[in-house]
Amino acid sequence: MKAIIFDGQLKIVDVPMPVPAPGEALIRVSMGGICNTDIEIMKGYLGFRGIIGHEFTGVVEETAGNVKAMAGKRVVGEINCGCGVCGTCRSGLEKHCPARTTLGISGRPGAFAEYTTLPVANLHEIPDGLSDEQAVFTEPLAAAFEILEQVSVRESQSVLVLGDGKLGILCALVLKLTGAHVALAGRHPDKLGIAACQGVSTVPVNDIPEGSAFDIVVEATGSTRGLESAMEYTRPRGTIILKSTVADNIPANLAPIVINEITVIGSRCGPFEPAIRALEHGSIDVRPLVTAVFSARDAGEAFRTAQKKGSLKVLVAFR
Ligand SMILES: [Zn+2]
Ligand SMILES: [Zn+2]
Repeated sequence: MKAIIFDGQLKIVDVPMPVPAPGEALIRVSMGGICNTDIEIMKGYLGFRGIIGHEFTGVVEETAGNVKAMAGKRVVGEINCGCGVCGTCRSGLEKHCPARTTLGISGRPGAFAEYTTLPVANLHEIPDGLSDEQAVFTEPLAAAFEILEQVSVRESQSVLVLGDGKLGILCALVLKLTGAHVALAGRHPDKLGIAACQGVSTVPVNDIPEGSAFDIVVEATGSTRGLESAMEYTRPRGTIILKSTVADNIPANLAPIVINEITVIGSRCGPFEPAIRALEHGSIDVRPLVTAVFSARDAGEAFRTAQKKGSLKVLVAFR
């Protein structure tokens, strides 16, 4: 089968078909979404080599072992695969299993190929009403919903999301569902406009009033400077949620966190079900975030487009 691999360079190569292990499904990939994590991997993040990609939709071809038969179902898949037997897994935190593999990110071939494999337990069926273009946003949207698993956001609270990239916009749209006052700050009027159309207040990042103090600040800039800005705009005893994963090390003076007694929360992958429901019910519209759709054979061009300033989500069609 054809696969998009990263081995220091991005290439389309022929590789053997994957064989699902017991408990896993073989999935015929329909569509992939290029994530900033993929771009970071190409800069050396986690040293990953192999088939890249973790945001996908597909159709189950077959399952192996004594598991629910799902052949023919359209699915999206959670990307972390725990060992299932250690204490962390048994406490329900498989995504933090020290022996975990992560689709296309760590220890497990990714989804940017004609076929991929994942444990059946990781799969979620796509409702009929959702297109692949919408459903492929489930994984990044779930990452935004993770914030609501970690902090209880009240209607009376003020929230600032820093960064008008894909993740920043999705975080702002999810936080808006709580009824809290949500502002999205960024540098791109067209990107801010996408969130504004769905009821989020927006502000050019250089126009955030000096002395602004928000209850919750979400750092989604993807930049090494984001944490400093987040510290600046968080009220004493407020909360910073870190969403960016950047390959570079961050030099930062953390004294404001101590002085202002700020709570800092790291936030990664999240629950798929609320993400699928929000897409299904139309409470979040991801379609304006699609910059372009490329055929898999134009993967190089797709990745170049994804890295261009001004791009949001670039999708890759595998069939
Ligand atoms: Zn991602
Ligand atoms: Zn484990």
